[in-house]
Amino acid sequence: MNIEIVKRSSSYINGSWVLSNEKIFLKNPAAPKKNIKEICFASPQNAKDSIVSAKSAFSLWSATPVDKRIKSLKILMGAIEKNIKILSRLITLENGKTIKESEGEVVAAIQEGNYQIDFLSRGLYENIDNKKLLYVPLGVALLITPWNFPLSTVIRKMIPALACGNCVILKPSEFSSLTSIFLFELIDSIKFPNGVANLVLGEGSVIGPSLLDLSVLKIISFTGSTDTGEFIQKSIASSDVRYQAEMGGSNALVIWKDADIEKAVDAVIASGMACAGQWCTGISKLVIHEEIYDDTINLLVKAVKNIKVGDGNLESTDMGPLNNSHQLSKMKNYIARAVNQGAKILIGGKPIKIDKDDGYFFSPTLLEGVNEKMKVATEEIFGPIINIYKTDNINSAIKFSNHGKYGLSFSIYTADDKVADTFIENIDASLCHINLPSPYREVDMPFTGWKKSGSGIPESGRFARDVFTKPKVVYSNKSS
Ligand code: NAD
Repeated sequence: MNIEIVKRSSSYINGSWVLSNEKIFLKNPAAPKKNIKEICFASPQNAKDSIVSAKSAFSLWSATPVDKRIKSLKILMGAIEKNIKILSRLITLENGKTIKESEGEVVAAIQEGNYQIDFLSRGLYENIDNKKLLYVPLGVALLITPWNFPLSTVIRKMIPALACGNCVILKPSEFSSLTSIFLFELIDSIKFPNGVANLVLGEGSVIGPSLLDLSVLKIISFTGSTDTGEFIQKSIASSDVRYQAEMGGSNALVIWKDADIEKAVDAVIASGMACAGQWCTGISKLVIHEEIYDDTINLLVKAVKNIKVGDGNLESTDMGPLNNSHQLSKMKNYIARAVNQGAKILIGGKPIKIDKDDGYFFSPTLLEGVNEKMKVATEEIFGPIINIYKTDNINSAIKFSNHGKYGLSFSIYTADDKVADTFIENIDASLCHINLPSPYREVDMPFTGWKKSGSGIPESGRFARDVFTKPKVVYSNKSS
């Protein structure tokens, strides 16, 4: 694609594009030796300016009638819809996922944004007998997002935050600046009042502290790893800034003895290998019932062999590269440690060289003989590695699935409803699926995590309003 389509290259503060001396080159994970574009990361002063700008815009935006706010957001969603192709290309360029996966993300983001617009256009006050329940905006919202879903994680937070009347500062991942810059070009073209929506680019650990102005911020909505989420939560612990976080996962899919094996294997590929395994609700743990183990493994190995790894821009590619060099070293380390602890590589297990550009490609991998003592069974892998555990016992299948600090998503494949119910009752995860892939979701439901996978009220689905507003109840005995 012609990168000139993205005209800007910096943060967007108080309605202006703000340059700085912190210049960096964006990389394409499929060909990191080539630079995509030079952009500016924000300076600490830029970050502070964004807080001031959002704070001063709040009185105007919060007083703007909800219909008017909703109208502007509808125009924004329309602009995103008109630019599906460009946004998908940009996501693939900086994230690595395939063009089909990127299009899927943009379409999902549009559905989610439109759901919030529709829900919140009806839902910011309720009349109940002689009482009025008002949902009042909080003020300045800091939205921190990851690189793996660079558009949908942003839309999930930004649309409800703005619809409710808050002003926002978006701090996207340093690995997904391009998608955010283009999104803010669309925002700029719609002419929201200055300061209502601000973009601050930069590395989290560098620019993050300048954004944490606890005297101004009213809410931080974070999506990213559990380590960063907990670090931020601790940094603001003594303040009254509202905090909600969607974090990591180490999710399991179980194939029970009576399952439709072909459908289950398709679901394993969709849940474990899509986006090169870099999907918070995807799986890294697979439990297979002993009675169907060999047949399932045969099918699974065949399916994994068929996955074509390559540049996500090519239509023929099934799986793109990992997002960055750190991801690649993490996968190598996981494999080395698992093999050292007794796991066996069934297929894959190493980086792949596709061409001379040294992209961050890693082979789709199946590891068998994994048990609870191994690090791969407890940590978030976030790559195309599936760890397989064999059992004929429902309690040990549940124990293995629940093992570790995370509680995000889970999937059971079985024809026996009682077995399905037993799993669902005993699984410590917020997003549970019966005969459906683990990332499956619908936009009116909360997208949330238990244990160390989440904190606070989810910012999505019908809970968004509760996160981005405070209730005011008016009991009235008016004479007229
Ligand atoms: P990350 O934690 O490294 O970064 C997330 C964001 O936090 C980035 O914008 C980063 O720049 C910022 N950040 C880092 N340090 C900061 C600091 N000190 N102050 C302020 N901001 C800071 O995560 P990542 O690698 O970008 O994303 C992958 C992770 O996100 C995985 O763990 C995945 O499971 C998780 N994730 C969760 C969900 C969910 O809904 N549960 C969705 C998508 C991704």
